Amino acid sequence: NHGTVIVGGGQAGHTTATALRAAGYDAPITVIGDEPAVPYQRPPLSKRYLLREIGPEHLALGGRAPEVELRTGERVTAIDVDARVVVCEGGTKVPYDNLVIATGTRARRLPEPLAGGLTGVHVLRTLADADALAASLADAKSVLVLGGGFIGLEFAAVAARLGRKVTVVERGRILQRAVSEQVSEHLRSVHLGNGVEFLEGHELERFDDVDGRVVAGVTTDGTRVDADLVLVGIGAEPVAELAAEAGVRVDNGITVDELGRTSAPDVYAVGDCANFAWRGGRLRLESVQNAEYMAKAAAAHIAGRDVPPRPAPWFWSDQYDVKLQIAGLLDGGGDSVVTRRTEDGSGFSLWHYRGDELLAVEALNDPGSFLTARRLMDRGISPARHIVANESLGIRDI
Ligand code: FAD
Repeated sequence: NHGTVIVGGGQAGHTTATALRAAGYDAPITVIGDEPAVPYQRPPLSKRYLLREIGPEHLALGGRAPEVELRTGERVTAIDVDARVVVCEGGTKVPYDNLVIATGTRARRLPEPLAGGLTGVHVLRTLADADALAASLADAKSVLVLGGGFIGLEFAAVAARLGRKVTVVERGRILQRAVSEQVSEHLRSVHLGNGVEFLEGHELERFDDVDGRVVAGVTTDGTRVDADLVLVGIGAEPVAELAAEAGVRVDNGITVDELGRTSAPDVYAVGDCANFAWRGGRLRLESVQNAEYMAKAAAAHIAGRDVPPRPAPWFWSDQYDVKLQIAGLLDGGGDSVVTRRTEDGSGFSLWHYRGDELLAVEALNDPGSFLTARRLMDRGISPARHIVANESLGIRDI
């Protein structure tokens, strides 16, 4: 009885272990993670942790499950799906009955000739990245953020709050893939109000350096942005090589079905690294909620329990005093949108429809709308537009 081996000790790996025990699974559980730290939360790394509002002791993921063998600082280098063993660096073999791959994503890096080895150029994915970035930020005067995605903008907000001069260089429009134009516009104006400058529709051509230390970024139209610190926030890539080399099917992440099962027997993949079946198509999501749901679903299946249905996706981002919460997926955008303000006028929500179907709700400082939207979407209910638009109706009455 070898039990379950989990590769990756992040949000999804940790949750798989706790969910297995919560489901009454009593076989051995081994979590093998290559980072030195015990499982921790990443979201604060670009928010309160960088602002030094919380310390590393507040990052640890809670709910440590009993009798789980946690091997930190250990890297899995191969999986043999026929022999049912994983091989660790140094050659240790760990046999399994069930294997859960929870290897997450890694920050996408610029090609070598652009940024290779320059001091002052950072990515942000791990606690080690965050600590290096914080040290660099302490001495920096001007910051270039390459990429206007969530991590880039959250970091821009932190750097601006700490009084640094910040410029965001973005190839398209900020948050283009993730939010509606209205939300991009709102967040842009909040950043502008905090002194952040934007170069949208600009592509980076090169960095200038002095003795290997970055001093500026130059865009393809020749615009020069002085910067002694650069954060490259150009997205993340699924860590799927282990699976691919083991012959497990991979296509933009590790391909899994609704239960988290890969193409190999008794091998599951969960979290950021997994590409799952979704409404007749496929999807890979990078969010805490997805990591937790997939972990719980795989754990339930391994423990012989019913797998709960997948709830509507949700996500959040904090920038300055703005909390953005999104329920559902915009999925290329809807064809109509209803705006609703909160009763006290401090927040609002955008309800995006395609035909009569509610696709997604973007809530800005409006947790009530966000929670209502999730509740409705989880039940497959699309409220009529005129009801949502009626602000004399309380949000709970929708
Ligand atoms: P990870 O947490 O990345 O864990 C994977 C682990 O596997 C890593 O520790 C990795 O080192 C390890 N690993 C990989 N390969 C091996 C190997 N061969 N052997 C052993 N170990 C291995 N999501 C939100 O919903 N809201 C937010 O506000 C938000 N903010 C974020 C801010 C930042 C800065 C970052 C980086 C992410 C943020 N996210 C946010 C995304 C969220 O953190 C991820 O979706 C979540 O961590 C995914 O969990 P995971 O377990 O799939 O992957």
